[in-house]
Amino acid sequence: MSSPEDLTGPKQPLYQARKGVYPKAVDGFYRRLKWAIMAVTLAIYYITPWIRWDRGAYAPDQAVLVDLANRRFYMFQIEIWPHEFYYVVGLLVMAGIGLFLVTSAVGRAWCGYSCPQTVWTDLFQHVERFIDGDRNAQLRLEKASWGAEKIAKRLSKWSVWLFIAFWTGGAWIMYFADAPTLVRDFWSGNAAPVAYATVGILTATTFIFGGFMREQVCIYMCPWPRIQTAMMDEKSLLVTYKDWRGEKRGSLKAAQADPAAFGDCIDCNQCVAVCPTGIDIREGPQIGCITCALCIDACDKVMAQVGKPRGLIDYCTLDDADIEKKGGTGKPVLKTLFRPRTIIYFGIWSAIGLAMLFTLGQRTRLDLAVQHDRNPVYVQLSDGTIRNNYTLKIRNMQARPRIVDIYIEGLPGAQVWTDEGDRASARQNVNFAVDPDAVHKVRLFIAAPAKGPARTEFQISARARTGDERGDSDTLIFERPKDDQ
Ligand code: SF4
Ligand code: SF4
Repeated sequence: MSSPEDLTGPKQPLYQARKGVYPKAVDGFYRRLKWAIMAVTLAIYYITPWIRWDRGAYAPDQAVLVDLANRRFYMFQIEIWPHEFYYVVGLLVMAGIGLFLVTSAVGRAWCGYSCPQTVWTDLFQHVERFIDGDRNAQLRLEKASWGAEKIAKRLSKWSVWLFIAFWTGGAWIMYFADAPTLVRDFWSGNAAPVAYATVGILTATTFIFGGFMREQVCIYMCPWPRIQTAMMDEKSLLVTYKDWRGEKRGSLKAAQADPAAFGDCIDCNQCVAVCPTGIDIREGPQIGCITCALCIDACDKVMAQVGKPRGLIDYCTLDDADIEKKGGTGKPVLKTLFRPRTIIYFGIWSAIGLAMLFTLGQRTRLDLAVQHDRNPVYVQLSDGTIRNNYTLKIRNMQARPRIVDIYIEGLPGAQVWTDEGDRASARQNVNFAVDPDAVHKVRLFIAAPAKGPARTEFQISARARTGDERGDSDTLIFERPKDDQ
């Protein structure tokens, strides 16, 4: 009788131990592109909280600020209030559709070039190369027993990583408070406990994820590679080893001795040596490939050295791979990028962006909300007129005090006053000062002749005297006793 093990095959370990990855330095077009993107993204992240933006005396002068205490989000000239959260939702939807667009066009380019995990791991690897040396020196040092040199190098490397990780966590909290003030408070011990806790957590995660876990975050922890697989199709660009050109692989010496028996791959392993996730792209598309294209740079260099055309490893779609295998020529890159699916994604993405820009340009920074008192609905005054009472709230969404005029239209003979004045001050409009960035609440009284319909619709408008002339308006009901119709 066979044992359970005979039936299920050899026992697989539940967890495979990590094999160390020591990526070799490489130069080439994609490496330089990665340098440029790394410089831009890191500069944006570290510098943005320090950019000042003058919004007048009543608002913070930090260009990008998530002001949780006052429930505001500032981004240069744009200020988002909590009731305008749909703009943030719109931005998130745009980011999602943008990722759909990029992934369907150029595969996992986000992972390979601009994901924070990729950018910080890349940065940490450069520090590692600077201190430990390139791949071979790192391998030697890893195998060496603990001596003065290894301890000194490890301590230096970890210290620099920790320094970067600390500034990464430190920069994050500056998006949530005035950066210069927060730095002073932080070092003098007067910052909020949550600021120290956030910096501590982000320092630890950056240090561990960028320094030690690296490709394991991409392969095992991040859900994005799985999601992206569903977004790609046979027309998406992937980093591809062209096995129809490279196989049968063999050493340069063997290939020179019998050129007809071998393909272009000289099995030099340079593509594997430079790979930051330690995979062999010649085994086909795989979840560990973040499409950073460094193997393309490495292989192009090898091809140049052996006098073969570049592109044995290259960006290629599955459709083009089939065509090339049959001896044809793949589509031009532009045709691959501009196809119905990517154009539709781009159309949706731009439509949302334009709609947001349009509504941002149209929005008023004055918000009017009026509620009719229900009990009593109306009151008959001693002079015979009918009074309705309302609660009016004016929100001044500008960082300066403003005088706001309140007008009513469509209610003949009506007079209006507030609980800040008296009946003697009643006129066809009222005005009051509203503090910057504040809500002003008043009781509003409207008196109109008793003769008239039981329910009259009228318009109430609020307009600021300075800026934002469009203001806001609302339609209200004025009620009278039925007998007086
Ligand atoms: S296989 Fe090539 S593209 Fe993929 S992660 Fe490795 S080096 Fe980058
Ligand atoms: S770098 Fe190019 S030639 Fe060398 S092993 Fe990789 S695919 Fe083959």
